[in-house]
Amino acid sequence: MANSWRRERWDSLRLLTPNWQTRLPGCRYDGVDPDGFMTMAEVIEFVSRYAAVTSAPVRTRTTVVSVRQIDGGYHITTDRGDLRCRTVVLASGACNQPSVPALRAEVPSSIESLSPFDYHNPGQLPQGGVLIVGASATGVQLADEIHRSGRRVTLSVGEHVRLPRTYRGRDVLWWMDASGVWNQRYDEIDDLPRARKLPSPQLVGTPARSTLDLNTLSAAGVELVGRLSAVREGRALFSGGLRNLFALADLKMERLLDTFDEWAVACAREDFSPPERFEPTRVPASSRLGLDLRNGEIRSIVWATGFRPDYSWLDVPVLDHKGNLRHDGGIVDAPGLYAIGLPVLRRRKSTFIHGAEDDAKDVVAHLEAFLARGAR
Ligand SMILES: Cc1cc2nc3c(=O)[nH]c(=O)nc-3n(C[C@H](O)[C@H](O)[C@H](O)COP(=O)(O)OP(=O)(O)OC[C@H]3O[C@@H](n4cnc5c(N)ncnc54)[C@H](O)[C@@H]3O)c2cc1C
Repeated sequence: MANSWRRERWDSLRLLTPNWQTRLPGCRYDGVDPDGFMTMAEVIEFVSRYAAVTSAPVRTRTTVVSVRQIDGGYHITTDRGDLRCRTVVLASGACNQPSVPALRAEVPSSIESLSPFDYHNPGQLPQGGVLIVGASATGVQLADEIHRSGRRVTLSVGEHVRLPRTYRGRDVLWWMDASGVWNQRYDEIDDLPRARKLPSPQLVGTPARSTLDLNTLSAAGVELVGRLSAVREGRALFSGGLRNLFALADLKMERLLDTFDEWAVACAREDFSPPERFEPTRVPASSRLGLDLRNGEIRSIVWATGFRPDYSWLDVPVLDHKGNLRHDGGIVDAPGLYAIGLPVLRRRKSTFIHGAEDDAKDVVAHLEAFLARGAR
């Protein structure tokens, strides 16, 4: 139960979505801190409570090792017996494996290499400098935590999504919800493949509700370098162009804030503070384009380069050449096969906990109609 939250997260992680937003059908946060952010222990308790509230027939400690098509449905093999069913919903998650670039293999063996699944807390890292590759939610959070532990941190920054924690007196994710941005449907998005690949926002859930962006990190002493492009003869090589990268992220944030402001004007509410604009991301006077990985400056690398699903157990030919599931809004390219919980599955909010409810209603409506057709 709540396996990914129990086993695949670092010790200090809290949700970046506020408590009031953490809801599943018939189950919502009812504690004293609706604007706070759940710790992992609280998320595990929340998911376990949901299982109890729904009385769903959950089979814990059971791994599906194969799903294959048979006449009239699917044959499921698990490590605890087999099942046959007419329909299957793939709810196995979007983040089953860290997505680490192949250039990891070129890193000298003297450097300790960790994925976010291996990382628990700074205490496990060898003393000395740490290179963190990737500056989305995971990368900025780990850069902050590891820097605070007294280690020198270099953060390699690629494409990223900048967001302030609060805007006009409210949580930025309140604005995403209220303005309808998070509800935008997959069939209304111009470049859906791109939207599905968008990195997670630079956000952290802390009791102080503070913003954790590149300005915060560089002011604290974290060194920013460009995207890691190669590791050659023991040197990590970084792309230049931080200025452009930062300008793009700033511009996209400004556009999003404009959308919030337009919505606020259109709904004629007067209970918001005035519009805010934030300092552009500061470009370092000079940023290193290379780092010697053999001179002892860097002792460990954390690959905060994203996550991907694992379908190694799915013996149905529904993956494209990149290993992505072929589906239209969760209706997979095989009769009776469905998916839920993937990026922008049916809405921008699809991979978030509170995003499951609306998607599930749509997917289940299709599934019911499929079963009803078969029953006639
Ligand atoms: C570091 C991190 C932080 C996040 N923070 C937030 C946040 O703050 N707020 C938020 O809303 N979302 C957050 N998310 C996204 C979050 O993962 C999803 O919101 C939520 O977990 C999706 O639920 P899910 O059930 O679709 O997938 P998961 O939680 O990944 O659950 C899938 C389950 O399927 C199981 N499974 C996979 N394969 C098999 C198999 N073959 N047989 C049996 N079981 C299998 C997995 O073990 C897992 O238990 C975060 C994700 C990550 C990686």
